[in-house]
Amino acid sequence: MHAFLPKVIDYNKFVARGELVSGMLKRNAFTRNEGIFSLVSDVSVKLSFRQNENGEVTLNADVSAVVSADCQRCLELLEFEIKKSSEFSIRENDDKNGGNLPLEDGRDIFYANNGKLDVLGLVEDELLLAVPMIPKHENISSCGAMDHEHDSKGISNVRRPFADLRELIDASDEN
Ligand SMILES: [Zn+2]
Repeated sequence: MHAFLPKVIDYNKFVARGELVSGMLKRNAFTRNEGIFSLVSDVSVKLSFRQNENGEVTLNADVSAVVSADCQRCLELLEFEIKKSSEFSIRENDDKNGGNLPLEDGRDIFYANNGKLDVLGLVEDELLLAVPMIPKHENISSCGAMDHEHDSKGISNVRRPFADLRELIDASDEN
């Protein structure tokens, strides 16, 4: 059983100890996903800090959660697990002299404030990046859009609300 993580941590403590920070963030702590997806589970987080010979702090972050979103094919609710692993270079906000450019090796930079690292913000970014732009049932047989087609056995029983409207318009045109 994992403990809950604080939303902000003093990351230098963990750099010094070289230990893995792992725990959960409560699903209701997240807000930026609203309207995009819902969190079904709390979010599992693993953070591993290292300092290289140049004094640069890097962070490996693994996040995973079960989320739900509307399938863009059948519009039914779809539940799936997302997992993302990323490597960041941690910089202090006050040494922002190189701008926001990614490092040469492609790692993203995440800024901390006086040793305080916004874990919630970082994890929220990761979740938003991990969720597909167009969520769809992966297996076509479990997608509601296909069920409807099978049910109709070749005869279309898809409701077409505008078909009736079309007839009304046509009828009124003739008058
Ligand atoms: Zn679907």
